[in-house]
Amino acid sequence: MAVNTQRHWTKFDDNKEGVPLYNGRKAQKQLRFLIVGCGLGGLAAAYTLGQAGHSVTVVESSSSIGEVDDTGEILGMSRLEGKFERDHGAPWYVVHRADLHGMLFTLASPYMKLRMNSKVVDLDVKDPHRPSVTLHTGEIISADLIIGADGINSVGRNFVTGKTDIPLDIPTGDVAYRVVLPTHTFTDDLELRSLVEEPRVRLWMGPGKHVVGYCIRNRKEYNMVLVKPGDGHSYSWTAKGDLDEMRSDFNEWDPCLQKLLSRAESPLETWIHASNRVVLLGDSCHPMLPYRAQGSAMAIEDAAVLGNLFSRISNSSQIPALLKAYEGLRHARGSATQSASALNRQIFHLPDGVEQQQQDAAMKIAMEAELSNHKAKDGHRLPISSGDNPNVWSDNKKNAEQFDYDPDAAVDEWWALNGSRINLLGGPSFTRSNL
Ligand SMILES: Cc1cc2nc3c(=O)[nH]c(=O)nc-3n(C[C@H](O)[C@H](O)[C@H](O)COP(=O)(O)OP(=O)(O)OC[C@H]3O[C@@H](n4cnc5c(N)ncnc54)[C@H](O)[C@@H]3O)c2cc1C
Repeated sequence: MAVNTQRHWTKFDDNKEGVPLYNGRKAQKQLRFLIVGCGLGGLAAAYTLGQAGHSVTVVESSSSIGEVDDTGEILGMSRLEGKFERDHGAPWYVVHRADLHGMLFTLASPYMKLRMNSKVVDLDVKDPHRPSVTLHTGEIISADLIIGADGINSVGRNFVTGKTDIPLDIPTGDVAYRVVLPTHTFTDDLELRSLVEEPRVRLWMGPGKHVVGYCIRNRKEYNMVLVKPGDGHSYSWTAKGDLDEMRSDFNEWDPCLQKLLSRAESPLETWIHASNRVVLLGDSCHPMLPYRAQGSAMAIEDAAVLGNLFSRISNSSQIPALLKAYEGLRHARGSATQSASALNRQIFHLPDGVEQQQQDAAMKIAMEAELSNHKAKDGHRLPISSGDNPNVWSDNKKNAEQFDYDPDAAVDEWWALNGSRINLLGGPSFTRSNL
């Protein structure tokens, strides 16, 4: 999994040294948050909201924490090392999803009460001041605010939209296999050893299919995702693929592994329930196609914005305005990233033909400029494409749009304009019955 979690991630990381988020600001009004889903977004939200001074309970349906379960001609190359950190303020890391999950779990643990084996089957806001969830056991848990961070098949989304069969997951028709190979199993082969010795993110593209591969876990494992046309009806990330079928699908490419779900884009109109007591986050409200490697980054950004906003709450009557701000700050970016991911799908899977040849040529020109610039001394650099390179990771404009975003800066800017209005909401005479 390729993640640029950006400056907020650096801040998460900083916290190992004990640096608090939000300069130590804690909410004057402490709320009880109930987060449905202990995935990447749920954990990030548990951490940011806990840091903001709130009490957090996370309910998770699983019983355990861990991993959910060519011609070879080089057309394009993006030099992410060094340049990426210089241009966008943070290095580009590739990380196994389970490891990212583990890091977030470590960060969030001190701030959350976690309940495993707790599948949410229903939500209820009949008492709008006491929203609640019903678990599969029949147990009811209430809170001040519920966050639906329950991923692609979200019950929270159905509740917020009031629909059970919204066409959010328009099948792309693609399925993906994922495989993780211990690198020691193939480094006796000279050609394959270079995959480990030169640890780049490699992308193979072909008609209707693509493959992404990179080293994870300090080069001990090689992670590959192979996307190909499927039956369009797979909604699970953990369904086992048929190994022989996968090999035959990519018999002229490198083989790979685990089946992935296909999903697409039709942005939800709202992420907030009319009661203003249930809100969505991550894949539950903007499921991301796996072509831009930004799904977890978007879920973490959501959590960063939510935490920052709710570190400023002093009165429960401010909840609707803060939720509206959250949606306002995040909706357009989530939708734009969904679109960017969908566009990459077209680019990766373009059928052979004139358009594909033009696209390959454009990528090569951009790569040559980039390679030449890498060797050139300062002042002798060729212009790098900006906004029109089909290889998005080598496009300065697209990279700036995607990776220069700072969720805390976005909230700070919003608060500078709106904070005094929010502070006036409700006044200081808060009582429990206002909840
Ligand atoms: C093969 C693959 C490769 C990817 N690569 C990248 C990448 O390189 N970079 C990137 O940024 N993103 C990537 N993504 C996407 C990324 O993993 C997701 O966008 C991200 O996990 C979304 O986080 P989330 O918290 O919204 O949902 P999830 O991480 O899916 O978490 C949802 C959680 O809710 C729980 N849950 C669901 N229903 C209920 C219920 N009813 N009650 C209680 N709990 C429930 C689930 O068990 C799960 O733990 C990839 C995805 C796949 C499949």
